[in-house]
Amino acid sequence: MKPEHTPTAIKAPHGATTTEITWGDGVRCSYPNALLRGYCPCALCQGHGGTIAFVPGGNSQLRELEPVGHYALKLVWGDGHNTGLYTFEYLRALAEKSEVATHAAEAR
Ligand SMILES: [Zn+2]
Repeated sequence: MKPEHTPTAIKAPHGATTTEITWGDGVRCSYPNALLRGYCPCALCQGHGGTIAFVPGGNSQLRELEPVGHYALKLVWGDGHNTGLYTFEYLRALAEKSEVATHAAEAR
């Protein structure tokens, strides 16, 4: 597993509208929960085949965040939707979106 695909800290306080992930390479990303919901990678949201697209309108209240093995997070939303499996690689790629605030690694 590459450091940039390995979270060292995940902060998703209850009631917050963003989820913050710090990666093994020191980069810190703040993901708006609405963005995470819109980019839910599950087949229910994205359909089969084609590219991943933003799907608006979903409940973006993050209820739970469960680690799946050492490679992904399962996000549970306020409406009970829980079929999205967000791999760390996918989450890191989402950081390229302009809505995600990215903080470069601090110099040591
Ligand atoms: Zn979904």
